[in-house]
Order: sequence, then structure tokens, then C-alpha cells
Amino acid sequence: MKLEIVQAGNPVLRQRARPLSVEEIRGSEIRKLIESMRECMHEAPGVGLAAPQVGLTLQLAVIEDREKYHKDVPEEQLRERERRPVPFHAIINPSIEAIGEEKTEFFEGCLSVSGYSALVSRARAVRVTCLDENGQRKIIEASGWYARILQHEIDHLNGMLYIDRMKTRSFTSMENWVEFWKGKPVSAIQSQLELESSGRF
Ligand code: ZN
Repeated sequence: MKLEIVQAGNPVLRQRARPLSVEEIRGSEIRKLIESMRECMHEAPGVGLAAPQVGLTLQLAVIEDREKYHKDVPEEQLRERERRPVPFHAIINPSIEAIGEEKTEFFEGCLSVSGYSALVSRARAVRVTCLDENGQRKIIEASGWYARILQHEIDHLNGMLYIDRMKTRSFTSMENWVEFWKGKPVSAIQSQLELESSGRF
């Protein structure tokens, strides 16, 4: 099954996805879908892909942060983002809660908002309760970049995009991100964009 990623503006991205039954998860259709989503995510490439992004309003997302994606990222940036490899897995019918009050803010992108990026504030750590690709109940406790991926993907299942949460003044094309912002510490970007000067306008 060859899947196509839909772009912002497609109403499927704004619907609340429906949960899957354990029977469906163990059935061949969903198994095949998970495999196709994995291929689609690798091809993109991306670290997460939610079913609504391929036009299906199902509470299903796949996640994988491969070590090979990290070799072009400076060590300092991996450390700042607490980005570590995450093996392939699916999350199904997830619920999510923040662990603690701590937030982090980094540039984030989305395969369905292709070519753009923006600063998004997210919980640093989360707990996700879901079913896995075998229909088994699973609790994931994650921090750092993996926690951000989980929040981003679960937003998709609720009809949300990162642009609903972004610091709008930080919105940038990827080209300009590379030219002006890449590699700068987030605190410097925040002050350059006057993100902390609320009430000035
Ligand atoms: Zn996305």
C-alpha cells in the first residue's frame, strides 16, 4: 500500500480520529497499514507519522528516531534537545499526561506543514497510556525529544497541528531557518524575536 502524506488545509487533519478495537489491531488490514506507515515515515523521512496524515482518521501513529538521523546533528544540539534513538513502535488509542511542570521550547516541523518550522513549547516529560501494535496495553514514560514526538503525534490524533501551539513570531521557512536560525541557542532566538516582550503590540 503506497501512502501519500496530506498537507495542512486537508480537513482530515482537523478531525478527531476514532479508536481502534483490539480485533482491528490484530487484523491484517491494520498490520499492513502499520507497515506502510513505517515505510512512508522512512521515505519522508520523519520521526513520527500519524494516521490522519495519510488520510485515515484512526487513533494510530508510528514513531522511530533512528540513530542514522543523528549523525548530521551536532552533539550539542542532541544534548540540548535530549534526543536519543527511539526504536520503531506504534501507539494506538493513546492518552497523555505531563509529568511535572517543566517545559522546553524548540523548533519543530511537520510532514503535513512541509517546508516550515516554528518554536513550540511542550512538556519536557510525559506519560502515555496506549495499546501497542499487538493490541497490548502499554505505558510509556518519556522525556526530551521523544516526549515532544509523542505530544506532536497525539495532537494529530485530536485534530491539532503544531501551528496551533507555535510561537507565531518564530514561524519560518526551512530555507530561512537554515540561513538565520539553525545552530543558535533557543534563548538567543527568543530574545532576537522579542518573544518575551508580551503586551508590546
Ligand atoms: Zn506532524
